[in-house]
Amino acid sequence: SHQNLNLRTIEQSEKLQNVCYEIRGPVHAHASRLEAEGHRILKLNIGNPAIFGFEAPDVILRDMIHALPYSQGYSESAGVLSARRAVVTRYELIPDFPYFDVDDVLLGNGVSELITMTMQALLNNGDEVLIPAPDYPLWTAMTALSGGTPVHYKCDEDNGWNPSIEDIESKITPNTKAIVVINPNNPTGAVYSREVLQKLVDVARKHSLLILADEIYDKILYDDAEHINVASLAPDLLVFTFNGLSKAYRVCGYRAGWVVMTGPKDHARGLIEGMGILASTRLCANVPAQHAIQVALGGYQSINDLVLPGGRLLEQRNITSDKLNEIPGVSCVKPMGALYAFPRLDPEVHEIHNDEKFVQDLLLQEKILVVQGSGFNMPDNEHFRIVTLPWARDLADAVERIGNFLSSYRQ
Ligand code: PLP
Repeated sequence: SHQNLNLRTIEQSEKLQNVCYEIRGPVHAHASRLEAEGHRILKLNIGNPAIFGFEAPDVILRDMIHALPYSQGYSESAGVLSARRAVVTRYELIPDFPYFDVDDVLLGNGVSELITMTMQALLNNGDEVLIPAPDYPLWTAMTALSGGTPVHYKCDEDNGWNPSIEDIESKITPNTKAIVVINPNNPTGAVYSREVLQKLVDVARKHSLLILADEIYDKILYDDAEHINVASLAPDLLVFTFNGLSKAYRVCGYRAGWVVMTGPKDHARGLIEGMGILASTRLCANVPAQHAIQVALGGYQSINDLVLPGGRLLEQRNITSDKLNEIPGVSCVKPMGALYAFPRLDPEVHEIHNDEKFVQDLLLQEKILVVQGSGFNMPDNEHFRIVTLPWARDLADAVERIGNFLSSYRQ
């Protein structure tokens, strides 16, 4: 046998101590095992449009295929010039978005990689970053991995999940370096009001904070929701705006994203140089996907057909929100953007002591996989996230089954 009792155990690094990503955590692994055993699992845990019958715009596919022979080499670390130009043009069309040029754009393997690079370039041990609760948990995880301290500010469910400015102000310390704004929000679906964003920018200005604006859902808006880019309210502050092709163009598997750095850069030369160093250490982002950026941004914006009246995403958002609100003891703030709903379980009716166990029990009994609110750094056990990507009839059926499950569920 190969057994060698003298082998030293190999631990993960201590850096990973506070790094969690529950969207693909233990319950997700359990669901994969059930699938391998032959069960059919309805996966409402990941914002992955492709597995629910969404297709990328045809022009993107054709262009990628066409670009393959020309994409064999590394590109510049910042990204291919035509794609960065297309990003500049995209924002030139937005009134009030601050001026920037191709040198202020970095392309990455999805927004995820650029989040990681930013936190690694920015943070020293003990630096604090203000992050919304609930959040998209990569922001918290990468702050922790980079030696920073995530400090969560409250988003107020009773105010359409808008950030609480008082809470933000109360959590600022001399160590606070940056504030993360996720708008439209994952997981809540909130689209922040101009008034709240303006106040948030005022706080950032007063305390000289770097603003990290994750706007990956900025084209996925419902009803009359208006999206306001934080950068356009803060031309005098350093703002990093993150976006990519994963959601609006439905190609999350290609891994294409960008970060745009706007505002006064002279006082941040060190940070910007650090971003460049990290970009060069990973050589470049996936080159075929970079080529897809120009055609995606320049072509027909088919996302609008999905979110406007009669659109599939709008219908799915409606049915999810309406059906959730019909369940006794469940309330759901209507998502105004993005691909998720984040309902609340009233603790007077459904007392949940451990929301991970709730999600696990729902999986075992109903074969439906959602994500517990605590996986988004929500400090209570009263929420879960459901994606609004399946066809309306499948969502209606899923929410009905969740309701039936809840009617007899006790912890
Ligand atoms: N930011 C938010 C708010 C997200 O929801 C996601 C993916 O779900 C990402 C970033 C990561 O996206 P990408 O596929 O570009 O890495």
